[in-house]
This record gives sequence, C-alpha cells and structure tokens, in this order.
Amino acid sequence: MILIICEQRDGILHKVSLELIGKARELATDNRVVALLLGHKIEGLARTLVDHGADKVIFADDEILAQYMTEPYAKAACAAIRQENPEIVLIGATYIGRDLGPRIAARIKTGLTADCTFLEIDAETGELLMTRPAFGGNLMATIVCPNHRPQMATVRPGVMLAAEPAARNGEVARLDISFEAADANIEILETTKISKEAVDITKANVLISGGRGMGGDFSDLRRLAEILGGELAASRAAVDAGHAEKAAQVGQTGKTVRPDLYIAAGISGAVQHTAGMEESALTIAINKDPAAPIFDVADIGIVGNVARIVPKLNAGLLEVISNR
Ligand SMILES: Cc1cc2nc3c(=O)[nH]c(=O)nc-3n(C[C@H](O)[C@H](O)[C@H](O)COP(=O)(O)OP(=O)(O)OC[C@H]3O[C@@H](n4cnc5c(N)ncnc54)[C@H](O)[C@@H]3O)c2cc1C
Repeated sequence: MILIICEQRDGILHKVSLELIGKARELATDNRVVALLLGHKIEGLARTLVDHGADKVIFADDEILAQYMTEPYAKAACAAIRQENPEIVLIGATYIGRDLGPRIAARIKTGLTADCTFLEIDAETGELLMTRPAFGGNLMATIVCPNHRPQMATVRPGVMLAAEPAARNGEVARLDISFEAADANIEILETTKISKEAVDITKANVLISGGRGMGGDFSDLRRLAEILGGELAASRAAVDAGHAEKAAQVGQTGKTVRPDLYIAAGISGAVQHTAGMEESALTIAINKDPAAPIFDVADIGIVGNVARIVPKLNAGLLEVISNR
C-alpha cells in the first residue's frame, strides 16, 4: 500500500498531491493507494482525491492544522503511518514537504530520499527505486531503502502525471487523533502572502525562456511571450544576474516544467537546466553556438544571434496573425 501525504493551502489542493496519487496507482503492487489530508474544514477535498485515484482518504480536521506548522502536521502524519502501515510514503517536494518529510522519517525511524524525479519498483526485489539528481546534477543517483519501512520519498512537483479525474468509489475516514495546545510549539502571529502576481510557470502551456545569451535584455522575449500567450522563464544565469525573477527559473534548483512549447533563447543547455524542461512537448532552441548542448534536447534548433532572430520571429508571427 502506498500512502500519499497530500498538501492543501487555504482549502486548495496542491497539484503535486494529484500527481503523486497518479504515480502511486502505477506503482502500488497491491493496487492500494491511500491519501492523507490534513487541515481544517478540508473534508470536501476528499472527493477530488478519490476521483484522481485514491482508494481511501484519511483526513484529520482540526483548527491547529488550519495553517501549516511542522509539529502538529508531523504528529498527525506519524499517527496515520502507524495506523496504515504503508510500504511506501510519498510527499511533494514543496516547501512544506521538504520540511515535513525529514521530520516524519526521523520519528518513524526510516530513510528518506529527497527531491526525486523518477520512481519505479524493482521487478526482482519489489523495492522502490528512488532516483534524483546528485553531484550538482551531473549524475542521477538511484537510492533504495532495503532495511526500513516505509520507503519514503519527496517528489518534485511537475515530474509525475496526474490521472484524469473519473467518478470512482473510495472510502473516506477520519483519523483518530486529538491535539493539545502544546502540540503547536510555535505561534503564527501573521501570514504575509506575496501579493505580486508571481506567475506559476509550471502551469503555463507556452514558456519563452531566456539565458545569459540575451545579454540582459528580455524585452523581445517578453514581446514573443505576449504574442504566443505564454509566460517568461529563465536559466539560473539570467536569474542570478537579476534579469528574471527566481520564480521563473527552470532547472534543478528552479522549477520543473512540461509545457506544450518551450523556446530556449541564449541558453547553453547545461544539464541542471535541461533537467527542468526536457519533458516539454516541443522545444525550440536559439543559440549562436551550433555545438551548444541545448540542441541535443531541442526538436527545432535555430543557430544565430538572438538579437536578430527573436525580433524577426515576432514580426513574422504578428504578420501571420494579422493576415488571419
Ligand atoms: C547545483 C547547481 C544547480 C543549478 N541549477 C540550475 C537551474 O536550476 N537552472 C539553470 O538554468 N541552471 C542551473 N545551474 C547552472 C547551470 O550549470 C548553468 O550554469 C546555467 O544553466 C547557464 O545558464 P545559461 O545557459 O543562461 O548561460 P551560459 O551557459 O553562459 O550560456 C549562454 C548561451 O548563450 C549563447 N549566446 C550568447 N550570446 C548569444 C547571442 N547573442 N545569440 C544567441 N546565443 C547566444 C551562448 O552560445 C551560450 O550557449 C545550476 C548549477 C549548479 C552547480
């Protein structure tokens, strides 16, 4: 049985929870997937989890769980794991998952592979093979947890596919747990939400991504994004140089994206970058260096100067649009 520790904030499920349920359906050798939902007034989300593939949803509903706090969430998750005794526990590698995962693993005395990008079951041993980038992304390490149970992993959002929702039957059960004031060892005085319209590039169908080769000028790329109805993204070099927001960074230490179209302009294609975009349906790369590794992952390569090619592309697209 596989237990997914789902994530919701303000009653909205994080998409990684549905992605993990989708993956768990594929991996569960006994065909059993259980979702754990923690929060306050969140029982209504159980239906969505069932429709996306959970056989059973266990929920803990308490005021203390209304906003994420490590201690009460860890207490509830450990109680659910002890009750259900899963073979595998999966959590999204979000800020919350990265905080909660190690805490749970230490309490239930098992191992944890963080930030996985690939999971499969070893056909011979039945063990979970947990793969993640290692040594700065220069190699992929596959890690097993042979001596302890459950096998635990946090998994990057955006790398697994959520199943299409379908009306299914599933059990919904309340976790038998109570909390005391002492379970919250911190007090949340104030929550400040980042109010600027930070775009979630993992949800964009079209991404126009710029690198150091843009020479710091993203205006033509911004125009291209407007024309194609896409969003701007960037390599880490462009983010570090202050030409793009950190939230727009694609790659190993940025976001993993899977858009229908990814245009990489002035990006060399370092493995730490391609790790975050290689699943894009169509990749077009523009680079003046014909030997740039980005061309190895691109479906269409344009060799040339971005300062000349991108404005021409914009003008051509505008002409096509105006003639329609
Ligand atoms: C632990 C670790 C984690 C990392 N995580 C990430 C990550 O999440 N995301 C990420 O992107 N990187 C990451 N990096 C950095 C990564 O290794 C590269 O350094 C980075 O991706 C390079 O960015 P770039 O392609 O924009 O710049 P460069 O490698 O400098 O490439 C610029 C490219 O632009 C081309 N170019 C230059 N001028 C022009 C022009 N006028 N017209 C056309 N082409 C031109 C050049 O030929 C070159 O190929 C990480 C590194 C480490 C060690």
